[in-house]
Order: sequence, then structure tokens, then C-alpha cells
Amino acid sequence: MIYFGGIEGGGTKTKCIVAADPDHILDIKTFPTTNPASLLPALVDYFFQAESRFQVPLSGLGLAYFGPLDLDPHSKTFGAITTTPKLEWQNVPVRDYFQDHLHIPVSIDTDVNAAANAERLWGAARGLSDFAYITIGTGIGAGIFVNGKPIHGMVHPEFGHFLLRQDSTLDLFPGVCPYHQGCLEGLASGPSMAARWKASANSLPDDHPAWDLEASYLGQAIHALTVICSPQRVILGGGVMDHPGLIELVRVKSLSSINNYVKSPLLENIDSFIVKPELGDKAGSLGAISLMYQ
Ligand code: ZN
Repeated sequence: MIYFGGIEGGGTKTKCIVAADPDHILDIKTFPTTNPASLLPALVDYFFQAESRFQVPLSGLGLAYFGPLDLDPHSKTFGAITTTPKLEWQNVPVRDYFQDHLHIPVSIDTDVNAAANAERLWGAARGLSDFAYITIGTGIGAGIFVNGKPIHGMVHPEFGHFLLRQDSTLDLFPGVCPYHQGCLEGLASGPSMAARWKASANSLPDDHPAWDLEASYLGQAIHALTVICSPQRVILGGGVMDHPGLIELVRVKSLSSINNYVKSPLLENIDSFIVKPELGDKAGSLGAISLMYQ
């Protein structure tokens, strides 16, 4: 068995994992995301200690990090965090740091691309070449696979920031995105629900109009994704999607928005076109491990 280290770097928490795959997880440990000067050495120590504790050498390290990241392999700053609002983390070369200190191969991708890759290898997207994993929580992002590969392109997609069509008879909320206001993240993220309804998303009752509106916006998002990328499946994760009944509403709204324009048996079978992740809260950390299998 070949074991790897993985780091899921988030804005508030950083999760480390030692595993080969979902059936062979030796350890998971969560650290608060403090500042690079104190956290990065602690993470290196963790992996050195894990190697001696479990008596396994780590054959590589996968980094699934919050972005934006420099993912251009030809760039001098490849593998660095770039313009994050977390100022202490701006321009931190995380990939180089771990490669220099652990002396093992290091792969890096966005947290959503990594989670999508884990679902492709071991979860809800097994056997698919074209699919998307969308996470709807504090922010909104998507890992989008086309022809079996995650889209990177110029940098990487920022799916949460495309502009939505807002019906002013239903919703006058201006949106919380400081860059675009009424983009998907501005109108449908957890913080946008909290700001619009003056209550946290998870405290809103099932019959609250918030859920119908949320499902309409996510329906527009799946409409856009379907007509642009032609995915075979869309996986919806993140804290907001934990609300019971929301995924069923999103299926209805997605079909109504697409309005029979796209014809495919995959869309007719909507319950297996729009699904939840199978790896649950481990999608992120296993995503880091999955980067070693690309
Ligand atoms: Zn935006």
C-alpha cells in the first residue's frame, strides 16, 4: 500500500490527512488556519511525526487549497496563493514550501477541483469524463471536468462569480459580492442568505420563501453549466445543500429553467443528473490525496 499526505487548506480550518484512498485512512487532523509563519512548520512536523507513528513513508503530498492560486506550471510563482483577502496568506508559495521541507513530490489544485477529482475516483462521478462538483456554502465554487480533465485555462474557473438574472418582483437584495454584487455567490451563498433574510441559512424553516428563491438561483446555475459545459452529472455539496428538500427543489427549478431545450436521457433522469457528493465531509481531504492519482 502506498500512502500519501494531503492538506485541505480552508479559510478557517486546515485539514491534514494521511491515506491511500477512502478505505485506507490512517489519520486526519484539523488545525486552525492561523498565519503561514506558525502553521506551515506545524504541518511539516505533523507529516514527519505521522511517518514515524504509522511506520509508512509518504510518497507524495496533495494540496487542495483555497484560492485564487497560481496554477500555471510555467510561472515563477506556480503553486502560490495569490490575491486572497486573507492578507497574511497573499503570495505564500505553499507548494514550494512543502516540497522544500518534506522532499517529496507535491501536487496542488483548487479545493473544488480536488474534491471533484475525489468524487471522480471514488464517489458520485465514477466513470464520468464530464461533470461538475459545485459547493454552496460560505462561498460558491465549482470543479469542472471536461474530457476527463479539470478545467484550468487562464487560471481556474470562478463559477461562483458569473452574473445571475434577478427578478426584481421576487428579490431586490443587491447581493453580497464586493466585486459583482449580483453574481451567483453574491445572491446564493450562505452569507447572502443570512444578509437577505437576517437569519442564518440553517435556521430558516422548510416553508420559508428563502428556499424556493435559493433553488431558482441554483437552477439558473445548473442551466448555465449544462448549456456551456454539457456535463453528464452535477454534484451539489457544501453546507447550504445540507438543508432537507433543497436538492429536490433544485432539480425542479433546473429543469424548468432549461425548459426542454437540451434533450438527453441523462436530463430526463434528473435524480441521477443532479446528485449529492458520496464522500461527504471527506471530499476535500480525500481530494488532496486524489491529486496524487492524476
Ligand atoms: Zn462575484
